[in-house]
Amino acid sequence: MTIPALMPVYPRSGFRPVRGEGCYLIGEDGGRALDMAGGIAVNALGHGHPKLVEAIAAQAATLMHVSNLYGSPHQERLAERLVAKTFADTVFFTNSGAEAVECAIKTARRFHYADGDPQRNTLICFNSAFHGRTLGAISATNQAKMRDGFEPLLPGFKYAPFNDLDAALALVDDNTAGFLVEPIQGEGGVSVGTDAFLKGLRAACDEHGLMLVFDEVQCGYGRTGSFFYHEQVGITPDIMSVAKGIGAGFPLGACLATERAAKGMVAGTHGSTYGGNPLAMAAAEAVLDVMEERGFLDHVTRMGERLRGALEQMIPNHDHLFEAVRGKGLMLGIRIKAEPRAFVAHCREEHGLLLVAAGDNVVRLLPPLTIGEAEIAECIEKLSDAARVWVGPSDD
Ligand code: PLP
Repeated sequence: MTIPALMPVYPRSGFRPVRGEGCYLIGEDGGRALDMAGGIAVNALGHGHPKLVEAIAAQAATLMHVSNLYGSPHQERLAERLVAKTFADTVFFTNSGAEAVECAIKTARRFHYADGDPQRNTLICFNSAFHGRTLGAISATNQAKMRDGFEPLLPGFKYAPFNDLDAALALVDDNTAGFLVEPIQGEGGVSVGTDAFLKGLRAACDEHGLMLVFDEVQCGYGRTGSFFYHEQVGITPDIMSVAKGIGAGFPLGACLATERAAKGMVAGTHGSTYGGNPLAMAAAEAVLDVMEERGFLDHVTRMGERLRGALEQMIPNHDHLFEAVRGKGLMLGIRIKAEPRAFVAHCREEHGLLLVAAGDNVVRLLPPLTIGEAEIAECIEKLSDAARVWVGPSDD
């Protein structure tokens, strides 16, 4: 038998974290690393935040899971808080981002079905998009590396270049249900959707009666300095998938929708055994409590500006490797002139700095939103050291 007990679908690194403290991870061998990956934009409150730990421990001792057969004061409380804070009128809780996207796709299709237009079942999606690994979510991306060997995928998806409004509008026809888009593409390379592009999609949805579905799994929940990124653009979607920061390490996602968009999602149309269980809800309420503390989002904005400014200052000193900074708030990427996975490995193995690769030429910084100035300074120092001694394969 050569296959490991753990299905080998991830090219895992040799770093084996066993403990976390704030912005640091401690490995099995005692090695300490500065965590600028944040569990891929998940650990919004860092590792071991006392309020999150306390809430989970107390809820685990009280009631962990009951199924969705019964009334749920826990889910109602969090759903009401999210409804009060967002465009949404209603929320479905899931266990992951991909499931939140699945629910969003189903909600969009079901809207048109309930509206008497079942043929409007096709979502227009975008090149380099990433929506998760379920069959629905990989059908919504046209990246071959995620799709190969899993066909037949779901019909009802078309693809346009990201940030190309004319190309997206040219795909609209009598079968179009709406657009599914990450306002800031994460895995695709930290590409920010332009205001004109996102507003143009909104206008087209209003004009043609289509559903605008935002996937804010990565860019939402405080990551860019507003609760959701679309607030900064000044538009709202009809449906939105959320995950990652919502549980800040506890597996949780959500699909948010307006009352109109959710008109087809009646009893019996969707479900999840674990979705929204009391333990997940307690974690999410604790996360929201912290994010609603005075100054939390301002802190994200300030730290985002500081990190960005420091990166921009550093780049000219290492222009053999670094090109430019992109992103918003604490969702930042550096375009580099090297294979990003190799540089991420170099930073991790030689400099105790954890980053994440994205797309073909970007390294992402997605630190805990609680990061402070000292950790930002340490990050810049480590990145500079890593760049100075970098001798890896280069595209130059
Ligand atoms: N959507 C976006 C924008 C994501 O970045 C991700 C994960 O990285 C997902 C969906 C899928 O989330 P999950 O891995 O929790 O299923």
